Amino acid sequence: MSNTLVNEKAPQTGTNVLNQMSLFNHEQLVFCNDNNVGLKAIIGIHNTVLGPALGGTRMWNYASEQDALVDVLRLSRGMTYKSAVAGINLGGGKAVIIGDPKKIKTEALLRSFGKFIDNLGGKYITAEDVSMNSRDMEIIHMETDYVTGLPESMGGSGDPSPVTAMGVWMGMKASAKKVFGNESLTGKKVIVQGLGNVGRHLIEYLDKEKAELLVFDIDEEKIKAVANQYKVKVLSAQELYSVDADIYAPCALGATVNSQTLEQLKVKIICGSANNQLADEEIHGKMVEEKGILYAPDFVVNAGGIINVYYELEGYNRERALAHAERIYDTTTKIFEIAEKEKIPTYLAANKLAEDRINAIAKLNARL
Ligand code: NAD
Repeated sequence: MSNTLVNEKAPQTGTNVLNQMSLFNHEQLVFCNDNNVGLKAIIGIHNTVLGPALGGTRMWNYASEQDALVDVLRLSRGMTYKSAVAGINLGGGKAVIIGDPKKIKTEALLRSFGKFIDNLGGKYITAEDVSMNSRDMEIIHMETDYVTGLPESMGGSGDPSPVTAMGVWMGMKASAKKVFGNESLTGKKVIVQGLGNVGRHLIEYLDKEKAELLVFDIDEEKIKAVANQYKVKVLSAQELYSVDADIYAPCALGATVNSQTLEQLKVKIICGSANNQLADEEIHGKMVEEKGILYAPDFVVNAGGIINVYYELEGYNRERALAHAERIYDTTTKIFEIAEKEKIPTYLAANKLAEDRINAIAKLNARL
């Protein structure tokens, strides 16, 4: 393995698969085809230095095979970095099944996919992702043990969102310490966008700490549920980014940190659970710095989900998973220190921390 895990951005076009793998420095891609059940899938194994490649399976009606390939390459690489920074012994992997879940998802298709996973002998372990649920994991489990995200009734880790929310809360406190000199969130105005599984649990932590909560969701029911239980100010879509606040916590969807929203945001900290918050890492990672906003990298603070399934592999124990997620405070602090020392944006500091860990363990493995 070379020193950097990624040499360049992956190309968006072209069909030279091995070339695309080498640009991302992927170890292995597995193309799965089963005409009998209509399965077309790609398993991406990016890096297994730290352990087996773990990452969810996404089912999506991709416009082209190339789109599916780019997605699996990016997502599996992302998992390598997320697990490395989280300090768990997992590599990065991800799988995509091509097709409309409403039309093609059957027991036979999932079991066929399970057999492909099983053939890899544990090098890839799957989990839930978009359009997959714990029942699907149960079906895949009929063919392979290399699956996580099983229901609690089957010894699985169940809903990861409380652990994810704990990690985000820790990242937010570490960010507050850096910006305000004090980790307390009492009286801090926090915008929470997205009141789903993670958002709701995050609100519980913030409410206990007496933060001032400003919330938004596109789903009225979600707003009602939160407003009935907690003291919150409900924002309109127009106010969401421009309201006076200290912290913005994106817990809905990606790419909300972009040129338009950065023009409006008045916050000092961005820290939330959504994946891929920066619309363009290079452009907006730099822009947040220039605006004097501290960005807690998404894949660092939202690692509670992967931490949770990691403990499923060891015989699940929620206390251990939560205790590990608490350490996201220290990791986030470390990333801010690296960013300051090396004068680089925080997302690059997080990448560096991941790469340093992987390279150190790779050297160790080569010696032993
Ligand atoms: P969820 O589906 O339970 O909740 C998402 C919420 O966002 C919903 O209430 C939805 O109505 C709302 N929403 C969607 N579009 C919106 C918009 N444009 N503006 C405002 N609200 C909008 O999902 P979740 O499990 O809470 O995850 C939230 C985010 O965190 C996702 O991006 C997810 O990928 C990421 N994440 C979740 C976990 C986890 O453990 N659940 C782990 C890592 C990352």
